[in-house]
Amino acid sequence: MEIVNYFKAKTIEEAYQKLNEDPSNLIIGGGAWLRLSSKIVNTAIDLEHVGLNQIKETKNSIEIDAYVTLREVEKNEALANLFSSIINKGISGIMGVALRNLVTVGGSIFGKYSFSDFITPLLAVNTEVEMYKAGRMALEDFLKLRTREKDILLKIIIKKEKVLGYYYKMKKTGLDFAVINVGVTKTNGYYKIVVGARPSLAAYATSAMEYINNQKVITPKVIEDTAQIVVEELKFGTNSKASKEYRIELTKVYVKRGLKEVTK
Ligand SMILES: Cc1cc2nc3c(=O)[nH]c(=O)nc-3n(C[C@H](O)[C@H](O)[C@H](O)COP(=O)(O)OP(=O)(O)OC[C@H]3O[C@@H](n4cnc5c(N)ncnc54)[C@H](O)[C@@H]3O)c2cc1C
Repeated sequence: MEIVNYFKAKTIEEAYQKLNEDPSNLIIGGGAWLRLSSKIVNTAIDLEHVGLNQIKETKNSIEIDAYVTLREVEKNEALANLFSSIINKGISGIMGVALRNLVTVGGSIFGKYSFSDFITPLLAVNTEVEMYKAGRMALEDFLKLRTREKDILLKIIIKKEKVLGYYYKMKKTGLDFAVINVGVTKTNGYYKIVVGARPSLAAYATSAMEYINNQKVITPKVIEDTAQIVVEELKFGTNSKASKEYRIELTKVYVKRGLKEVTK
């Protein structure tokens, strides 16, 4: 990436105005992913001084600003206590501490990376995003937006609930991207199942969720059937990391483990 001008915005409105001045202008988070691209950027807009650097706990939610680093999220105890550490655990499997000290929540969500170890556990709990212009919406809806509007991600909002959770990233080596990642939660008796890196972006297994949430008793057979529905309804593919068939087998195993874990 080549940056022609670097602009430290003082307010979010100033950042937004600058963003829309030129099609090649963009917001820079930690810059770790951007620097891998060959883009020529007229103006990179830095959000360090616009006041998006906090994790706030309110009565009903935990709000994490876009400029907070993934390392700060990983170390947050309230998230660990409420959500069985699945968000913290997802992040701790991303490269090394040096990278996690640099990369931001904004860059990690806005990039909609299909391999994301942050998005999968966030979908498994109740997460919303707040954009400067588009406003607030469920993370799931944000991920489905096809248009690439020039907007600024301000924060994510996670509903405070006591969640029993499971997260697993299958990777070939310690620092690698996921071959598959699976998040399973049970919140007030309701199950959610999310599978990412299939290799496409994380998604809910909605039919499997409907099936298991309609069962009175969760028997080993119900768990087995649920895992089968997951791999029948979601699309899997082959890439340099793994074949479609291998991903399907792994998903069945980790969904079953996740369901057993949260049903204990
Ligand atoms: C070598 C390497 C290995 C990695 N491995 C993994 C992995 O195994 N698992 C995993 O989950 N992740 C992995 N990542 C991704 C990483 O965790 C971050 O998600 C990624 O680097 C983006 O964060 P950033 O702060 O660097 O964003 P940047 O590179 O600064 O920005 C990324 C995109 O988001 C936009 N953006 C940034 N902030 C905002 C905002 N507030 N509003 C609107 N747009 C914004 C930018 O314009 C750009 O388009 C890896 C990254 C690298 C470089």
